[in-house]
Amino acid sequence: ALPVIYAITPTYTRPVQKAELTRLSHAFRQVPRFHWIVVEDSTARTELVARFLARCGVPYTHLHVFTPRRFKRAGMPRATEQRNVGLAWLRQHRTKRDAGVVFFADDDNTYSLELFEEMRSTRGVSVWPVGFVGGRAYERPLVSGGKVVGWYTGWRPDRPFATDMAGFAVNLQVILANPRAQFKRRGSQPGMQESDFLKQITKVMELEPKANNCTRVLVWHTRTEKPHLANEPKHRKDTVVIEV
Ligand code: UDP
Ligand code: MN
Repeated sequence: ALPVIYAITPTYTRPVQKAELTRLSHAFRQVPRFHWIVVEDSTARTELVARFLARCGVPYTHLHVFTPRRFKRAGMPRATEQRNVGLAWLRQHRTKRDAGVVFFADDDNTYSLELFEEMRSTRGVSVWPVGFVGGRAYERPLVSGGKVVGWYTGWRPDRPFATDMAGFAVNLQVILANPRAQFKRRGSQPGMQESDFLKQITKVMELEPKANNCTRVLVWHTRTEKPHLANEPKHRKDTVVIEV
């Protein structure tokens, strides 16, 4: 059987949340052997997300962990705790016998179906280009002789792994074999989440280039504009309560 792709998606309550999750589900439900680990940044699982997941047609696990207030400031890495809860669930519920690939799928990015075909064969840690990051149209691993030898990036080229969260996947067995590997708050500078995590589990020379030796962009770090809600009524609201 094909290895299962486990996509860990941190998500939080805001006006566009259900629209984002809907868009993602339309891609994910077309991917065979896919398991969506949705981790809400909240003190409890919300009704909105619970109802959405029950109807979305994607096999899923619904988790939550609330980011402490002190970590919710500008310039701080986002969704550290949520990704770690996703990893903890995998370590508790999957074993050496389970074939799988783990991928971190933020809720506002755009995913090509081909990306999942590429990452499915990940034996250790695989990498590929990501659109709209690093202050450029794309960032990508530079490949020579089938190995990653550097990074094409417009931002902090000194990062040991100059890739975005959407730019790599990890074999489930690597996650299980490195039970202490996780995303760090302490000592982690902005934009270093990926590098700080990856250096716990792999080396640059071991990375597996995907997407035609990292020459195709199959995922985009899109960001959704906030909707304008200035005309929301404060008092004379609609006569029915409608979930958006
Ligand atoms: N996120 C979260 N809690 C927050 C802010 C963000 O769980 O307080 C999630 C968000 O839903 C997304 C991921 O963390 O899946 C990355 O956040 P965002 O897309 O805002 O980051 P950026 O694209 O700006 O790096
Ligand atoms: Mn984003």
